[in-house]
Amino acid sequence: MNSPTSQILSAALTVFAASGALVLAREPAKPPSASHPTPTSSTSLSTPPTPAAAKVDRVFSIYPGAEPQDRMAKAVAFWNGVGANVEVTITADKDTADIVMLPDRALPEGTVGRTGVRCTSTPCRPTERGVITMSAQAGYPRQLALIHEIGHAMGLAHYRGSGCAVMAPDARSCDRKVPDRVPAGDRDALIQAWGNAPNAG
Ligand SMILES: [Zn+2]
Repeated sequence: MNSPTSQILSAALTVFAASGALVLAREPAKPPSASHPTPTSSTSLSTPPTPAAAKVDRVFSIYPGAEPQDRMAKAVAFWNGVGANVEVTITADKDTADIVMLPDRALPEGTVGRTGVRCTSTPCRPTERGVITMSAQAGYPRQLALIHEIGHAMGLAHYRGSGCAVMAPDARSCDRKVPDRVPAGDRDALIQAWGNAPNAG
């Protein structure tokens, strides 16, 4: 877990790792600005389509698009294992999904995924549909990138600490692998935003 990445953790946008590894990047849905976009009255709260292991206050349904089922299931399971008062479920209904995976398309070199999300609060609690776009780039851990982008869609910003976190802007921080356990930085961020699951413990 040698992760000499602290110098670039504060970078919010695309950067290249010295090794040439692709890094994760995020771009806002709207033209960049110093603050979050203007709130709107639109909300997309939904009820869980299937019984969840834990009753939580917020459920994000995600439409997987062409993403393989096993990969999406693994990504969802990662976040649902945090113990936060929020869950992700997979839906086949694109129209009502809270998060939508768009077809892959070319993104700027070094960018493997981006998520458009809008917030009206701090910490960010998205109130509108999140949109994820991935770019097929050989040799990159897409599973990790997918988890990262879903984290954005649930409102998480880039992790700015040291060590492994899937929300670090550079996948090197977890040695380019999905960690076996949810890193503390990711868990803390999700719980800070949404609180602990009601029956956690
Ligand atoms: Zn990112």
